[in-house]
Amino acid sequence: MADTFEVRSPADDALLGTYPVMSETEVAERVAAARLSARQWAAAGAARRRRVLEAWAAKLAQRADELAEVLCAETGKPRPDAVLEIALTLDHLGWAARNANRVLGARAVPRTLLTFNQRARVAYEPYGVVGVIGPWNYPVFTPMGSIGYALAAGNAVVFKPSEYTPGTGEFLVRTFAEVAGALAALTLITGKGGTGAALCGAGVDKISFTGSTATGKRVLAACAETLTPVVLELGGKDAMLVDADADVRAAADAAAFGGVSNAGQSCTAVERVYVVDAVYDQFVAELRQILAALEPGTSAAASYGPMTMPTQAEVVRRHVAAAVAAGGHAEGPEPTGRVIAPVMLLDVPDDNPAVTEETFGPTVVVRRVRDLDEAIELANSTQFGLAASVFAKRRAREAAARLRVGMVSINSWVMYAGVPALPWGGVGASGFGRIHGADGLHEFARAKSVTRQQFRSPLTLTSFSRRKSAHEIVLRYDRLRHR
Ligand code: NDP
Repeated sequence: MADTFEVRSPADDALLGTYPVMSETEVAERVAAARLSARQWAAAGAARRRRVLEAWAAKLAQRADELAEVLCAETGKPRPDAVLEIALTLDHLGWAARNANRVLGARAVPRTLLTFNQRARVAYEPYGVVGVIGPWNYPVFTPMGSIGYALAAGNAVVFKPSEYTPGTGEFLVRTFAEVAGALAALTLITGKGGTGAALCGAGVDKISFTGSTATGKRVLAACAETLTPVVLELGGKDAMLVDADADVRAAADAAAFGGVSNAGQSCTAVERVYVVDAVYDQFVAELRQILAALEPGTSAAASYGPMTMPTQAEVVRRHVAAAVAAGGHAEGPEPTGRVIAPVMLLDVPDDNPAVTEETFGPTVVVRRVRDLDEAIELANSTQFGLAASVFAKRRAREAAARLRVGMVSINSWVMYAGVPALPWGGVGASGFGRIHGADGLHEFARAKSVTRQQFRSPLTLTSFSRRKSAHEIVLRYDRLRHR
């Protein structure tokens, strides 16, 4: 009998579905089939791909209620969060569909004296088959940042959703198939980590991986064997900086939502807040008040839901215990069970795991700092570098420029996610490569350079019949030009 796995509701443990654990052989078969589809999808041309992707966006918009239902059931998140995730995804899918041809269309580039007899063009070609491996925390928005852009760039995609959210992945693939007809450019594979590993070794032309830093390293090692290029969108320990001239109430509001919405299970969650001394007490009081009023749970009206992955609740407990053991103060109920109430952590040493490791739960560490310079220094003193937010007026842009991260939002949280033209990605242990925007389209296309000679140049240097004077003319020109 084929190996299968069950998906259960994080809210009440009800069985939501059973899916096959696909073997290496099955993954290889699907990749081989995707290779044929990739040729058809590439040959269909940019205009037809745009029509299909726009039709897909329309279908997802019309059936958003159904999608939200699967998404909420598998992750435990409340409906408004699912709607937000779907709305962001549709903006990106539409943008990728509309802009792929503009961004990736072939273009002429300028020549030099040595090459003035050439026409020069750069074209962008799809890789072929892109493997997308996704996490469970935003199982629509996150993988679609790769899937939508890779498809728009002309690739076929083989998608492996997380073992916690295969139903959401299946919905995406099924709705694509409904609009694409014979152009079967999006394929689902299901399974656990081993199936993801099999995809890395199945001869795909590129892997786009989103998940933890630890798994990202394994993916990179597996891809090294076959020199398969990779995009890695990994974990974070994002900081918020609050300066003395900030709107403190707005900062506390953003820290609360950024810190504990989605049960804190966001790669860009606000996990550390550095608040300048002058407004520290006010900030803590405001944040305390907002967090105390939240009502996490499993009802439709809950502020946020349970921890999606049972083992993550243990990480949250370990970090809170470590912070308290080191002399920190934890404000909030004991983090027991699967639904964890918000915890504000104060006076935690900078080298504590609650400050240095990704918690991925509804906790926020708040630390008093002398000034914005100290806040920037502490924010940068981590292996991660995904994103950050800055609440400030006078020095906000300066802080954004000095932060060692891929994305910054000033006076808000996570707004870069909602601007499709902005690239998404991190530095350091948060990964490399970019999805979203023009950079995200380029990530899924290979540049190909072509020159076409129009006549033989009297200045040619790449022939044994070159003129004696040619190199002297070229050198004289270069000396004049680079004076
Ligand atoms: P994991 O790293 O545990 O898993 C991610 C995906 O990789 C899953 O589909 C998983 O399959 C699969 N996988 C597991 N082992 C392997 C392997 N050896 N080879 C290939 N694939 C494998 O991450 P989570 O799902 O727990 O997601 C949470 C993490 O994702 C957090 O660290 C978060 O910060 C990060 N994240 C980063 C984002 C970003 O854009 N930078 C966005 C969203 C999340 P399975 O689940 O079936 O085991």
